Amino acid sequence: MGAMDREWFHESRDARMNGVRRSPSGRIPEWSLDDALRQASAPPPWRPGPAPKKRRRSPRVRLRFGTVGALALLVFLYLTPTLFDRYVLPAALPYLPGAEVPPRGVEAGDVPLGAPPPAPASNAYTLMESPVEDQEWVAYDPCRPVHYVVRPDNAPAGSEGLVQKAVAEVSAATGLQFVDDGTTTEAPTEDRDLYQPELYGKRWVPVLITWTGPTEIPGLEGDVAGLGGSDYAQTPGHPLVYVGGQVQLDAPDAAETLQYPDGRAYLKATIMHELGHVVGLDHVDDPHQLMYADNIGQISFGDGDRAGLALLGTGPCVPGL
Ligand SMILES: [Zn+2]
Repeated sequence: MGAMDREWFHESRDARMNGVRRSPSGRIPEWSLDDALRQASAPPPWRPGPAPKKRRRSPRVRLRFGTVGALALLVFLYLTPTLFDRYVLPAALPYLPGAEVPPRGVEAGDVPLGAPPPAPASNAYTLMESPVEDQEWVAYDPCRPVHYVVRPDNAPAGSEGLVQKAVAEVSAATGLQFVDDGTTTEAPTEDRDLYQPELYGKRWVPVLITWTGPTEIPGLEGDVAGLGGSDYAQTPGHPLVYVGGQVQLDAPDAAETLQYPDGRAYLKATIMHELGHVVGLDHVDDPHQLMYADNIGQISFGDGDRAGLALLGTGPCVPGL
């Protein structure tokens, strides 16, 4: 899953407070957290099947800028014999008793509900790696709204409205239509059930944004300000589509951020960074982008971020899902 990094936040604050970046040796390597997440959340579902897509980055680079996006790589599929054997069985075996899916096409329109603005001429972005070989990247279905809910517990004073503002930025940059479904009692987790009709009705779960911390989410220990990413689902013969994203914000860390004069801007940027992971952006090796793993003062999307977000707003519509 995408990671929001407390490291990321601290870098930004340090840069502001000291005018210089902290020494690399002083950081907690983000990749260790990423790897922990991968292990916890990426059971070997599809590995026994088709060969995973080749890594685009060398191991060293990948460790440094490891994917933080996929919270739980559990693929739900409508069952057909071939695909069932190919993906679902290894992936969902432990989950089969509860592995129900919503009716197809809930709220799915015939055309995208919005369109991204013209993309800046920049390639300073990286898309989250697709888990399958025959699909280069994964996105939300632009023909249906992206619902989101917030668990308000632990939200620090002074953070009011920041989630909505960050969502608005991502919506504007992607053309994806987000719908604020209000608050929820659902807790963050690394293996979220993507269909919870008792909480959300008969549809895929909304994006879940939580104010949490290392006690509840060990991945937030150390210099990690947050985590972000999405799960995905697929109906046979159609592309994978993101559903059920999560943003997990380190509330104690956020409260500390808000003590500084520009605290709200930095916290909003942190949420935007995590939402960037949710819609499919990975980290990029360019400090002028918000998707750089260590923020050094960036508080808005850069050209590369915007180019990537515009692309991610043009994913396929999959009404059969
Ligand atoms: Zn990140």
